[in-house]
Amino acid sequence: MEKKSQNTFENHFGISEDRALEIMRDLTAYARTAGTPFTAALLHKDGSVFLREQNRVSQEKDASMHAELLLLQRGARKAGRADLSEFILITTCEPCPMCSGAIYWSGIRKVIYGLSVPEIGEAGLSQLKIRMQDIVNDRINDESPDMLIFGGICNDEIRGLFKK
Ligand SMILES: [Zn+2]
Repeated sequence: MEKKSQNTFENHFGISEDRALEIMRDLTAYARTAGTPFTAALLHKDGSVFLREQNRVSQEKDASMHAELLLLQRGARKAGRADLSEFILITTCEPCPMCSGAIYWSGIRKVIYGLSVPEIGEAGLSQLKIRMQDIVNDRINDESPDMLIFGGICNDEIRGLFKK
């Protein structure tokens, strides 16, 4: 049974669930040193890391500097194009509406996250109560397949980042 779900994950994302777990653990370790629970990475199709980022809102005094948005900006510069459809995005927390919109426009269609929006709320943070799938998979004039979104990896470790 477990093996079956693992295979499904791999069939959809092109990387194993173990590899996603490994990257999420790296992101939580990065989060501990960065002093923010919000970290994210862009992965190549083979699961290797292309780029990592963290939330820099306080550091840069810019409310838009969420980890995912920074990844898209830096990723586009590094790749030399706005289209990032070849990458997988992995993030400790479900992307907010701002980042979800930007991820859609970047062409990325595979997203893996840890804590969901309701779970981030339970951890005590304020959140806009809109789920990523309700933003990116509700479209006009775009009949392409739904974005693949998978959540719930390393939740205990990520919850720990919110406890000071
Ligand atoms: Zn965001």
